[in-house]
Amino acid sequence: MKIAFSFDVHPLVRGRRLLLAGIPIEHDKGLLGHSDGDVVLHALTDALLSAGGLPDIGTLFPDTDPAFKDRESSFFLLVALNKLHEKGYKVDQVDLTIVADEPKLSPYYVKMKKNLSRLLNLPEDRISLKARTTEGLIFQKDNPGIMCFALVVLTSL
Ligand code: MG
Repeated sequence: MKIAFSFDVHPLVRGRRLLLAGIPIEHDKGLLGHSDGDVVLHALTDALLSAGGLPDIGTLFPDTDPAFKDRESSFFLLVALNKLHEKGYKVDQVDLTIVADEPKLSPYYVKMKKNLSRLLNLPEDRISLKARTTEGLIFQKDNPGIMCFALVVLTSL
């Protein structure tokens, strides 16, 4: 069994689409990033790579590489899953905590979980997903962002 943790954070800015766990979220701002900025998929992918003893997400998919510009983050996740399978691992459990003061994310839990289950090929009861706020103590109103923490467990194939 292998366990690893990671996190990611991106700023929220106007003029970008907001995608979390691959699901479009209605909001007047989206996450700024070289790819689509999906912090949930980035944190998850990086934790999976770490658990598998693989190079981190920034090393495998550098944000200086035009090939990854505006790329859907599900691509990074699927590449990481392939690499894990090649090393003889499968995902056993995933625990994700999104940290955001805006927007309200609970209405999207069901959709996000379904999509993660599809991408990971993992039953929904092996995936935990929730959101917390910082009460304005970490993210400020004039400088918002979204963060995600990911904990993953791998087992041998
Ligand atoms: Mg990122």
